[in-house]
Amino acid sequence: MKTSLVVVGGNGRMGRTICDLALQSERFTLSGVVDSPSSVAEVSLRMMGKCAVSDNLDDLLTRMPENTVLIDFTAPDVSMHSAKAVCGKGFPLVIGTTGFSAEQLGELEEMARTHPLFWSSNMSIGINVLRKVLPDLVKALGPDYDMEIMEIHHKHKKDSPSGTALTLGRTLADARGWELEKVRCSSRDGIIGERPEEQIGVQALRGGDVVGVHTVYFMGPGERIEVSHHAHSRENFARGALRAAEWMVGRKAGKLYSVPDMLA
Ligand code: NAD
Repeated sequence: MKTSLVVVGGNGRMGRTICDLALQSERFTLSGVVDSPSSVAEVSLRMMGKCAVSDNLDDLLTRMPENTVLIDFTAPDVSMHSAKAVCGKGFPLVIGTTGFSAEQLGELEEMARTHPLFWSSNMSIGINVLRKVLPDLVKALGPDYDMEIMEIHHKHKKDSPSGTALTLGRTLADARGWELEKVRCSSRDGIIGERPEEQIGVQALRGGDVVGVHTVYFMGPGERIEVSHHAHSRENFARGALRAAEWMVGRKAGKLYSVPDMLA
C-alpha cells in the first residue's frame, strides 16, 4: 500500500523537492501540502488539484487517511506546532528543520516518548556515515590534533552554525569526553590569544546558492587531515526524508528517532 504523505513547508526549497519526488514515486501518495497563509496560493497553483493544500495543519489532518506520515522542513516554531498537532493523533512526523533551541529539542524528546517522531539535522546518508566514523579518527589521532569544523551554505540560510556542523561538533566533543557547548568557539575576532587545548572551532560561511559543505579538520604537528562532505543538490536530503517517512510507518513511539536508528 502506498504511504500517504503530508508535506509541511511544501513551498520551501526542501518542501518543493520532497513534493516533486513524492509525486514521481510509486511508493507515496502526496495527500496534502501545508504552508504559510502568504504561500498557499502559490502552492495551489503549482499543485493544480493534485492534493489538498492548506495553511491550517490541524484542519487538514482531520481529512487525512490513517496511514498518513508528515514531513516538515520549515522553521523551529512551525515544526514545534506540527509536533503538537500530530501528538495523540497517530500520524508519525519526520522533521528536518534545524535551529531548535536546547529547550525545544528537550520538548521534542519528551513528546517522542508517546508519539512517533523523527528528527535529523541532516538527512543525507553520507553525513551520517561520516558521523559514525569520526569517533574512530578522533581516538586514533589522539589529543595532539586540534579539531575544527567549517561549514558553507547559501545566503538564505537563517541559522548559524548549521545544525549539521553542531551535530558533527557534538560527535567530536563526545569522542574526547568534552561537552560541545563548553568548548565550542564560533567567533574569533581581535586579539584572541592562543588557541586553548580544549576547544572546537565551528565556523560558518554564507553566500550564493551553496547547498551545503561541511569540513572537519584535524590539525596536528606537521600535518593536517580534512574530511569534507559536499551536498550537490537538495535531492539527497529529500530522499533521506522520504526514506525516514517510510521507516516510521507503524513504528512505536519511545525515543526521538534519527538517521542512525534507521541505518542500524
Ligand atoms: P525555506 O525557507 O525555503 O522553506 C521553509 C518553508 O516553510 C517556506 O515555504 C515557508 O513559507 C514555510 N513556512 C513558514 N511558516 C510556515 C507556517 N506557519 N506553516 C507552514 N509552513 C510555513 O527553507 P529550506 O531551505 O527549505 O529549509 C527549511 C529547514 O530545513 C531549515 O531549518 C533548514 O536548515 C533545514 N534543512 C534541513 C536539512 C536536513 O537534511 N535535515 C536539509 C536542508 C535544509
